[in-house]
Amino acid sequence: MNIILFGPPGAGKGTQAKYLVNKLNGYQISTGDILREEIQNETIIGKKIINNMNEGKFVSDDIVNSLLKKHVFDPKKKEKLIFDGYPRSLNQAKNLDILLNESNQKIDIIFFLNVKKEVILERIQKRKTLENRSDDNLDTILKRYETYIETTKPVLDHYSKNSNFHEIDGSMEINEITNKIETFLNV
Ligand code: AMP
Repeated sequence: MNIILFGPPGAGKGTQAKYLVNKLNGYQISTGDILREEIQNETIIGKKIINNMNEGKFVSDDIVNSLLKKHVFDPKKKEKLIFDGYPRSLNQAKNLDILLNESNQKIDIIFFLNVKKEVILERIQKRKTLENRSDDNLDTILKRYETYIETTKPVLDHYSKNSNFHEIDGSMEINEITNKIETFLNV
């Protein structure tokens, strides 16, 4: 089963992705983690993206799309992809359609974890103390939220007409969200 977790920063995508990885023996494809790894390893890409990441701006579609490709084509991950934080733009959504098509796969379920801005700000500030992420300060959080709002609509429009698209109230407790997700899994 291939699943997309979509929603604003701080909606709990990562937490639910980890649950799904366990439950379905899947692989979490977090573009945020993939990009942070490039920075940590001081690669050429890492050096290109560090400023954008720290300022809460999107990394270019070309870079994210190219880093994603090998995961979609990895035979051990086939039909076990749990996307967390990708796609985030219409260009990325279309790119994913092409990659899945080329690798004879499809998306089985899309979960949209919808959360209001106030809840997000509170959650991310809490996460800052727990995870010590350099992009979890208030200015960057606001910038990341604005960026998300700007690019969200076309992505939602792209998916929301599908029968496998489910909107979930992401302001609920973690286990309540997990329970809700479970009801749609049918496994
Ligand atoms: P995340 O860990 O998903 O909150 O992502 C952290 C940061 O990584 C974002 O604020 C962006 O700068 C960058 N990023 C992660 N995923 C993407 C993506 N799909 N497209 C563009 N930028 C991304």
